[in-house]
Amino acid sequence: MTTTVRTRVAIVGAGPAGLLLSHLLDQAGIDSVVIDQRSRDEIESTIRAGILEQGTVELLDTIGEASRARTVGHRHDGIELRFEGEGHRIDFAATVGRAVWLYPQHEVLKDLIAARLAAGQDLRFGVTAEGIENGERPRVIARDAEGNPLEIEAEFVVGSDGSRSVARATVTGSSTGGYFREYPFAWFGILCEAPPSSEELIYSNSPDGFALVSQRSDTVQRMYFQCDPETDTAAFSEEQLWDELQKRVPGTTLKQGPIFQRDVLRFRSFVAHELRRGRVALVGDAAHTVPPTGAKGMNLAIADVRLLAAALGALLLDGDERLLDAYPETASRRIWKAQHFSWWMTSLLHVAPDATDFDRRRQLGELRTVVESEHGRAYLAEAYCGWPFDA
Ligand SMILES: Cc1cc2nc3c(=O)[nH]c(=O)nc-3n(C[C@H](O)[C@H](O)[C@H](O)COP(=O)(O)OP(=O)(O)OC[C@H]3O[C@@H](n4cnc5c(N)ncnc54)[C@H](O)[C@@H]3O)c2cc1C
Repeated sequence: MTTTVRTRVAIVGAGPAGLLLSHLLDQAGIDSVVIDQRSRDEIESTIRAGILEQGTVELLDTIGEASRARTVGHRHDGIELRFEGEGHRIDFAATVGRAVWLYPQHEVLKDLIAARLAAGQDLRFGVTAEGIENGERPRVIARDAEGNPLEIEAEFVVGSDGSRSVARATVTGSSTGGYFREYPFAWFGILCEAPPSSEELIYSNSPDGFALVSQRSDTVQRMYFQCDPETDTAAFSEEQLWDELQKRVPGTTLKQGPIFQRDVLRFRSFVAHELRRGRVALVGDAAHTVPPTGAKGMNLAIADVRLLAAALGALLLDGDERLLDAYPETASRRIWKAQHFSWWMTSLLHVAPDATDFDRRRQLGELRTVVESEHGRAYLAEAYCGWPFDA
């Protein structure tokens, strides 16, 4: 027998977007039900994003002490761009007076889940949405972990269900309807037990391709190097992985340690043709994906949520639909700026498989332009730290 649950806003997906949305709605006095197909344990242990924009951290501050971004995370006031064996620091604090925080996404999710459960949020793990029926009172058709049918009837449904969104088909008419670009390379990512090799992140361009020296904590490091999208993660021994990384970061001796996770991350740019239809809207990766080079994905999801929460507040508390009508256009401005920045950082730093000698020299010219120009440094710093929300 089908169980029916009624609420004001049904949220599909308990990633950063869905969880933060339920919090902002709750602050406005609006009830919601959040479902996620994964278990709490799986959500809290999947390693993904690591860089939080300043505006993201400020929004997370609104969950109170549960947010550990400022206490456990690390504030970074710059990054290093490395090419031709030399490092060039982009000083965020001096250039734009902003910063980013290194705080892993799964820790953000632990904080949000703890805060939502403490606030009495109806948050259901192991519940999979199979479809959404749009209308005056839209419904999420779902199934719980035991396979029992469940329907959530609401005044509004939000698809925050990630890049393989089920909600997208309801909004755009197809699960793939959008602007799309694929890239001829991917990142080979590793997690290893080692001390940090550098105090700040190093984005390194080399003739062998790109590498990113990132961090997770004082004892665990995250590093990536450019690879073919078809690369098999088992194709390299640990020694070969360190060789691949080290040759792309000349001038710094990487601190090595046991590698305990490896993955290949494909690059895609995508923006759905529509972000809202009737009483269903998309946020976060359900609406768009970016290549990871500019660290924009989670931050963009959070920026969407901020806009949609205000729009749903106006609709459900005052019957005012204007902000909701404007949501696709307002959100798109930042989405396309972030798309541009992610594409630009990607093309600035990676070596395309078919790059000619001309392309390579032109790329070095562009890198030099960025680090030697006040405007070049300012653009990179502003976009990386995140444009102020009300700018
Ligand atoms: C390796 C890696 C590194 C990254 N680095 C960065 C970075 O440094 N900075 C950054 O900003 N971004 C980064 N990103 C991107 C970032 O992780 C995503 O943009 C972010 O998770 C998007 O959040 P979201 O809430 O929209 O979607 P997700 O986090 O994907 O959450 C969607 C949720 O919906 C659930 N779901 C899906 N389908 C259903 C269904 N049918 N029914 C119920 N639930 C469903 C999923 O289980 C999931 O929990 C990175 C991504 C990866 C993979």
